[in-house]
Amino acid sequence: MFQTRRIIVLTFAAACAASGGFSRSDAAQATEQTPATTAPAPRSGADTRPYLLERVDDAAVVQVYADGFASLPLREKTLIYHLYEAALAGRDIYYDQRYAHNLAMRDIVEAVVSHPQGIEAPVIEELRRYTKLFWLNTGPYNNLTARKFVLKLTPSQLVSAMTQARKNGATFPVKPGESLEGLTKRHEPMFFDPHFDPIVTNKTPGEGKDLLQASANNLYQGVTMKDLEGFPEQYGLNSRVVKGPDGKVVEEPYRIGGRYSSQIAAIATHLEAAIPFAPPTMAEALRALVTFYRTGREEDRKAYDIAWVRDKNSPVDTINGFVEVYMDPRGTKGAWEALVYYVNEEKTRKIQMLAAHAQWFEDHMPWEPRFRKPEALGITARAIDVVVETGDSGPITPVGINLPNDQALREQYGSKSVSLFNVNEAYEESTPEGMRTEFSWTSEEADRAKRWGAFSQALTTEMHEVIGHGSGRMAEGVSSPHLLLKEQYSAIEESRADLVALYFLPDPKLVDLGLVAAADHDAIVSTAFEYYARNALVQLRRIREGTTIEEDHMRNRQMIVGWLIAHTSAVDVRRRDGKTYYVMVDPAAFREGAGRLLAEVQRIKAEGDYAAARRLFDTYGVHFDPALRDEVVSRVDALNLPSYTAVVMPRLTPRFDGGEIADVEMSYPLDLETQMLEYSSFARDADVLATPSAAR
Ligand SMILES: [Zn+2]
Repeated sequence: MFQTRRIIVLTFAAACAASGGFSRSDAAQATEQTPATTAPAPRSGADTRPYLLERVDDAAVVQVYADGFASLPLREKTLIYHLYEAALAGRDIYYDQRYAHNLAMRDIVEAVVSHPQGIEAPVIEELRRYTKLFWLNTGPYNNLTARKFVLKLTPSQLVSAMTQARKNGATFPVKPGESLEGLTKRHEPMFFDPHFDPIVTNKTPGEGKDLLQASANNLYQGVTMKDLEGFPEQYGLNSRVVKGPDGKVVEEPYRIGGRYSSQIAAIATHLEAAIPFAPPTMAEALRALVTFYRTGREEDRKAYDIAWVRDKNSPVDTINGFVEVYMDPRGTKGAWEALVYYVNEEKTRKIQMLAAHAQWFEDHMPWEPRFRKPEALGITARAIDVVVETGDSGPITPVGINLPNDQALREQYGSKSVSLFNVNEAYEESTPEGMRTEFSWTSEEADRAKRWGAFSQALTTEMHEVIGHGSGRMAEGVSSPHLLLKEQYSAIEESRADLVALYFLPDPKLVDLGLVAAADHDAIVSTAFEYYARNALVQLRRIREGTTIEEDHMRNRQMIVGWLIAHTSAVDVRRRDGKTYYVMVDPAAFREGAGRLLAEVQRIKAEGDYAAARRLFDTYGVHFDPALRDEVVSRVDALNLPSYTAVVMPRLTPRFDGGEIADVEMSYPLDLETQMLEYSSFARDADVLATPSAAR
């Protein structure tokens, strides 16, 4: 049931984070407008640093900070620096995987936007808009919709801009003897025609159409699903499959000496430079990774995964490889990505505190004692600060990751979960004020949301993950609730985890554990409950068509609030100036109701009571009033909220002393264009593209 490891924030927000496996529905939950997973404790002085840098169409661009870096020991800083270089060295692999024409297209637009003098203002403005979207989405396909966006110029406008840029010193990826007109002509359909290669990944191409043919990505060339029947695929995760002119299907493994050889060799060089600075368990994992990059073989990938997951305590870690398979409509080929991060000790302590006391919570669950676990296992996970994310994980970043993906290895060796603290912080700090105020009944509620929103959401999410999902046991003789509860299972399980968090949030135990200060406890509880009630309303904006909720987290939240409205005095539905509000009026009633509902939800799961689950969601979780939705949509649209967020990462600069790194300084570019041009030139300067890819 833990298939998907990744939570991506598509708007301001985060999710069911942290640990134990992000179910597929947890990934979808991240599309919610919910505050951050692991959010910053409120600061004594307001953080006045810039977070929201700019808006590009419906994307927000946000700066991520990594505050703890400066105080890390030199050894760790040096380790991080080499891993950071390894992350940058592979960045172009993902560009090429995503679209065969990506790198040439990027070279063209980067050459123009970095030599803008004398180009007509509206033309350079449009080129900038397009190039920024191209960087954010790693090519001309929108990350949310998988559909292509185009350059809104004429081909001749592009040629004149390129001509002017060339006068300014720009160079272009022309073939020998080719003019700028010729270069543009070759790329005309890619830049200008939305119907040419329209979708990067198409999992529902329609009757009689082929999944692979309908998808524009570069994981397959000329191959159909039929061609792959009986094809002995040796490098599932790390190869491109190509059908030659002779009709023969061949695999091109990604490895040193294979496809992306020069990039992978550069990655390996930087990984090897990192090894002397790594703790022994991590050094072993890095060596295994280098071996895998050399051979590309499945068994070496497994050996690496095992070594990586065994390295549980290193203060620095990296993910570097062909990992997630969402881009492949077959769900087989891994998209390259790299992240480098260090553990945020303070935030991690909080998560581990809950885990260490999992038995206390289990013993105090408001459900029948026969459903309590005699021995609860807390789930451990770490809060981290990321230093760099490239490939499939940046500039659009996950907020939580749980790896490895290999199910057999997960069962045998476990997995590692990380919650990206500083990414969540950046989202939270850049959330538009209107999002908090528009749906709050009073200014006190809005103020509380501003003061405690991030904190209370982080705590609720940690409780959901660490003491929620892992809790409870089945009734005698029942072992597989998901088989009994079928399509209701995920919504029941998510409800259970949410209710555990809501139920224990007001408990004095949280003060005893040092997770909240006694003086702030009431305000934090009110903030969390108010948020939860409001969210049932605000989330309706996501369902612009139809009148039913399909997504499991959304069903769960709708159900809980609907049930509380029907069965308790905790939440009032009020109207003012033609607007609807869900107002949390009684925290004690809220908690009591959550406990009562939790007992029933646990019984449903433990006994696999399908009929009761279905009744619960049919009554409170699935259906809504379309007029209310229309009202919510118009209120949200008036706020002009972005649909997704991308990040600008910190920048590392080493200071050398006699050939050795004497220190590594962190700075913040505060500008997408600066960072993207720097990343692109890093790859060029390192000459990792000395071997032209077939796409170029
Ligand atoms: Zn969950």
